Amino acid sequence: MSNHLSTAELAELRAQLEAKRTHLQQQIGALRTAEGANTPPEDEPSTDAPEDSGEQSVDMQAQDTERAVEADMRAQLVAVTHALAKFDTGAYGLCERCGKPIPLARLRRVPEARYDIEHQAEAEAKGRA
Ligand SMILES: [Zn+2]
Repeated sequence: MSNHLSTAELAELRAQLEAKRTHLQQQIGALRTAEGANTPPEDEPSTDAPEDSGEQSVDMQAQDTERAVEADMRAQLVAVTHALAKFDTGAYGLCERCGKPIPLARLRRVPEARYDIEHQAEAEAKGRA
């Protein structure tokens, strides 16, 4: 499994991702609490908590914003978890589209990056169409 990243760089990026994952889990937990969901605040380490969709409650606009933020954080959490899984397969740091190494500078900025810049732009264009 060849990789352009050194062991130390991989460890650094992995630590970044793990910190980010923890942070996101806490943020999502805090949001859920603020939302008044009856889930316990801190002590909920699982990321697969069931979504309580379809609740019709007051403050729709605030909720929409919170949901958008939460959805964004959940998407990030999925991306971070996905990236962490790639350390085990040796695929971390490689573009999932073309297999080219993603530059270290980019990984430091976006450690959960799945694509190199070329294919990231493509993926985003499709995702937002
Ligand atoms: Zn690519």
